Amino acid sequence: MTPASTQQDLADLYRHLHAHPELSFQEHETAGIVARSLKELGFEVHEGIGGTGVAGVLARGEGPVVALRADMDGLPIEEATGLDYASRARGVDRDGREVPVMHGCGHDVHVTALLGAAARLAANPEWAGTLVTIFQPAEELGSGAQAMVDDGLYDLVPRPDVVLGQHVAPLPAGMIGLHPGASYATSDSLRITFFGRGGHASRPEAAVDPVVMAAAFVMRAQTIVSREVAGTDTAVLTVGTFHAGTKVNIIPDDATVELNVRTYDADTLERILGAIRRIARAEALASGADREPSFEELDTFPILVNDPDGCRRTVPALASAEGVQRVIDPGPAAASEDVGVLATTVDAPCVYWILGGADPRLFADATSETEMMRVLAGVPANHSPQYAPAIEPTLSIGVSALEAAALEWFGDAVDRSPRRASDG
Ligand SMILES: [Zn+2]
Ligand SMILES: [Zn+2]
Repeated sequence: MTPASTQQDLADLYRHLHAHPELSFQEHETAGIVARSLKELGFEVHEGIGGTGVAGVLARGEGPVVALRADMDGLPIEEATGLDYASRARGVDRDGREVPVMHGCGHDVHVTALLGAAARLAANPEWAGTLVTIFQPAEELGSGAQAMVDDGLYDLVPRPDVVLGQHVAPLPAGMIGLHPGASYATSDSLRITFFGRGGHASRPEAAVDPVVMAAAFVMRAQTIVSREVAGTDTAVLTVGTFHAGTKVNIIPDDATVELNVRTYDADTLERILGAIRRIARAEALASGADREPSFEELDTFPILVNDPDGCRRTVPALASAEGVQRVIDPGPAAASEDVGVLATTVDAPCVYWILGGADPRLFADATSETEMMRVLAGVPANHSPQYAPAIEPTLSIGVSALEAAALEWFGDAVDRSPRRASDG
């Protein structure tokens, strides 16, 4: 693959990445494509940071250091889009299981758009400073950004004055969403194993059924947000996996559930995690279990705060970027993101926006925000096996948004858009 500079190159690169997704911390081929492209563009390239992370540096004398970030990992999802470039890839997950792999979160859009923006900025003589491109692994685990930092990212590349990035979502292409302040939730995942006593399906009186125990826990856990969290606080609790048993006529020994909690503040989080443990122990007791359930912490994401001044400065640049029709404030998202780690580590502002990636024609008849939301609810979203961003105009807008935002922070000499007094 050559550096993606034309619309056709970008689309080809995107389809290639989409057909060849890689799981978190296994983004070897993707990282190789990224590194080769950056080298061809004249960047100084650092590879293998935090595992598979890649950073590129393009230095042009005195001036600000602007970092643009993309994440590279796919998800263990069997793709069901039916597209001719759909993934048929398989991988091996952290637990050693063979799983299907899909770019179900659109990180292929992020990689392609950032390489496109790198090409455009490399060809644009009208800025000074240092451009840093950060391609991170394992966003889906919440640990890829931290892994790059821990592996000395900021000893290898200059410390940025700002970290900019974007996430594709099923807003109509041409629309960008940016919320100042706390924008993405904390996310904590937990595995709970309930221990029963196995036996023959015909003799429940001689067993302790962990399926009923875990099922009772799942139902009661769904009262935590509605009955134990204040109406003014926001939280989401989802049980994402439930595994027990091997055969229909056997009562299994144990049952395992994995759940995910999202909030915007530490107190609410502590309260919910406490309630989860209390209810799990109580259900085990209610079932007559011999052993308490076990708890294992899985992934943790920090909260992502969009710098308010940084947002004020970036919004006009995004609004004037080619193809962008509207910049909206969609409010905070319950999704989570680890991009903030790249900024908080060096005390730099972070500005992270949502890139519309749905075919705008789907929204042609929506005249109000309510109608738009109704259409939106019917469009497959990130992490769905049917998630399929429209290649164009999404990629072109993704490139121009990154380029426009970077140029704004370089404060170049080119008069691109009228500046407001408050922008600086
Ligand atoms: Zn995701
Ligand atoms: Zn994502």
